[in-house]
Amino acid sequence: MEYYSNEIQKLIDNFASLPGIGRKSAQRLAFHVLNMPKEKVAEFSEALTSARENIRYCSKCFTLTDSEVCPICANKSRDHKTIMVVETVRDLAAYEKTGKYDGVYHVLHGAISPMLGIGPNDIKLKELMVRLSEEDINEVIVATNSSLEGETTAMYISKLIKPTGIKVTRIASGVPVGGDLEYIDEITLLRALEGRTELG
Ligand code: ZN
Repeated sequence: MEYYSNEIQKLIDNFASLPGIGRKSAQRLAFHVLNMPKEKVAEFSEALTSARENIRYCSKCFTLTDSEVCPICANKSRDHKTIMVVETVRDLAAYEKTGKYDGVYHVLHGAISPMLGIGPNDIKLKELMVRLSEEDINEVIVATNSSLEGETTAMYISKLIKPTGIKVTRIASGVPVGGDLEYIDEITLLRALEGRTELG
């Protein structure tokens, strides 16, 4: 049913294409934008375009950043010999929020999922292995989710790294199965980190 003119409908459709935004919210947001001062709308759209244009992967850990190397990788006071492997930038943010982890990260941007046709080459795994061969690393902490995909990925990573002699550990379960790391409270995350065990 078409209630709105094309331009309005297009705006609503764009909002509705965002995750977690249903039709009602999309309409509310669209009409909110239409009531905003023109300069505000220009500023908003410029922020979207510029972020998309300038944000790229950190050349070391593959998190999103606006410089060659992200602030975490550039921070000399962090432990660069410990790498925590996470699925997403949001997972990284969840661990950073605890303020208790002082190593660095590697963001895979996904997990292996045979069901969805996502293989090892579709995530940043090769990049991790290159990093491990070039840098002096003591420990790789695999902090992928405890979903089937996360566990599959953890096992795969452990098998890849074992021959290099680098210690590979897995965060303790206690993170609910299929749980999105982002929504797990900091204490649970810290417990999972502290209770990590070596993968054999
Ligand atoms: Zn980085």
